[in-house]
Parts: sequence; C-alpha cells; structure tokens
Amino acid sequence: MVDDVRAKAALRPIDVVISVDTEFAINSALIDPRRTPIGRDYIDADDGTTSHGLGFMLRTLAEHQLRATFFIECFNVFHFGEEPMASVAKDIADHGHDLQIHLHLVWLYYRLESWRRRLEHESRPEDRFAGWDPGEVQGWVSEAVAIFRRLTGRQAIAFRSGNLSVDLNLYRALAAANIALASNVGLALFRPQEPELQLSGGIHRFSGVVEVPVTSYADFFRQQPNRLLTTTGSTWREIAAVLESAWRKQAGPVVILTHPHDFGRLEIAADGSGFRARPAVLQQQRFVELCRLLGRERDRFRTSTFDEAAERWAQAGTENDRLLHASFSGFTARAVENRLQPRLAGLRRLLSA
Ligand SMILES: [Zn+2]
Repeated sequence: MVDDVRAKAALRPIDVVISVDTEFAINSALIDPRRTPIGRDYIDADDGTTSHGLGFMLRTLAEHQLRATFFIECFNVFHFGEEPMASVAKDIADHGHDLQIHLHLVWLYYRLESWRRRLEHESRPEDRFAGWDPGEVQGWVSEAVAIFRRLTGRQAIAFRSGNLSVDLNLYRALAAANIALASNVGLALFRPQEPELQLSGGIHRFSGVVEVPVTSYADFFRQQPNRLLTTTGSTWREIAAVLESAWRKQAGPVVILTHPHDFGRLEIAADGSGFRARPAVLQQQRFVELCRLLGRERDRFRTSTFDEAAERWAQAGTENDRLLHASFSGFTARAVENRLQPRLAGLRRLLSA
C-alpha cells in the first residue's frame, strides 16, 4: 500500500489536449447540384433555444475551467467569404481558448476552375494532403497562414491537416511558413506512407517542426493501434482507460480529437430545403465525463493547449511512442453503445414527432 502510494507520487501529471477541428460542411454539394455547403449552422447546431454544437462545448469547458485548442478551417473562405469563420473564431477566442490552423483542400474547388474540371473525372472530390508537389503545398500553407491572420488577428503556431492526411513534404512547407507545431498524424484514421510518420502518440520532429499526433490506441486484445481517440468513436470507458494507461506509462501528450458537429447534429431534409438541430446525447455525455475527470484530477492530467505547451514540447526530447490500450469493458461497452445508438435515435425521433 505504502509502496503503491510512493509509486504514484513518483508519477508526474501528463499533458492531455482537447483538440477541436472547427469546420463547415461541404454537404456533398460538389457532386450533387441540389445541395449547398452549410456554414455556421453546422457548427452551432442551434435548435432555436440552445446551441448543441459549439455552444455546448464552450459551456462545458467553462464549467470545468478547461482550455482547448480549436483548429479553425481556413479554406472555406473560398466559398463563404471571411465573415462566417471569423465570427466563429471570435466566439471561441472570447472564451479564452487557443486558435490554430486546420485546412481542407476540398474548398479549393470553389476557387479554381482547374479543380472544378477535375470533378468530371473523379468519383469523389480530392481532400488529401499527401502526395502533392512540395511547391504547391508550400503555397497553400502560406496562404492559409495569411487567411488565419485575417480571420483571428493572430499568428498561428500550429497546424492540423484535413482528414489527418500527411506526408513529409507537409513539414517542409510548415517549416517554411514558420509553423513550429503540428498535429497531422492520426494513425488509426490515415496511415502515412513514410514509416517514420506511422506514430500512435508522443512528441516527434520533422524538418524542425514538432509533431504531436492525435492519439491512436489498441483494443485490449491487439498489439497494433487500431482506434483513434475521439468522443464519437470511443466510449467513455475506453477514453478513461486510455487516459489511465497513459498516466501509468507516463506517455503524454494524449491528444483527443473532437468537432463541434459531433455534439449537435443537423438532420437535413432530403430535398435540402431545411434542417433540424438535435443534441447527440451519447457524445455529449462522453465529453461531459471527460471534462469532469480533467477538471477533477489535475494532479494527474494537465489539460494543455498548443499555445500553452509550445515551449515545453519544443524543449522535450523525442517522447516515446508507447502503445496505449483500452480496457475489455471499454471494448464491450462500445459494441453495446454503437448498436444501441441508432435505435435510441430512432426512438427519440418517434417521441418528438
Ligand atoms: Zn477537418
């Protein structure tokens, strides 16, 4: 018992990051002319009285006195102009959170005639960062830095690529644009071609840029990471087990991926004429549990942001990429919740009809 207490005392708090990819929806508009992209409504998911998306996140973070890093998607301005995302960024900044760059190349279709022509030969629009000419990537990154500055009035220091699609070229482009930090890797979602980028966590350096991946973890019976740590795909028990495992192994930072639209969903009419916003109850519960734990156990989990941790991570040695596991109970809970959820949603629709 005493040994156990001593062992725990020797463990230091690990960094945990709540990261929020804050983006508008293309809503299949490039392949279905009846549809149009959805802007602020997609992020707010407001039913007329309550915002179940961004509003829910900001309220919950404030309640537990936590800061998060919001990666703000910049190329949507080619369709929406700058006002919609600038107003989103202002609301987030007014709540004291960190703002950094997120980028989806798919919005280039709205700016470039040459990209629109490509649609004639593509089954789905291009939205990947890996595999481009280095000069082209460098141009996009430096343009995004300038757009971000106009949207937020801030200089970005961190970058997250759309769909976590990445190759080594991207780090050269980030270094050229003076972006010191990145969180482009999420191995369980996108497996980079270069073996050195196949990372499940830790702190790494490429072309002088510090990469802090979104955490990938393994189901309890696997030896390879197969799950991305998110509040949509991971149950609360899995998230809690991964955090516990990371603390015991002293394997921070743990980076959790979320989106405002994870917590408030829009049900869009089939003819595209309108939508109704609803809370995603299960996902909201997971986020509340997460914030409760991080608010309560500050001696074990230091909730960090990219702006606040930048210097600490820059000076850290390359942290090991240790495999984290979810528990057996987390695995079974996921099977039950994922099966149950569509039925519960159906039931809720029936009750509120
Ligand atoms: Zn995204």
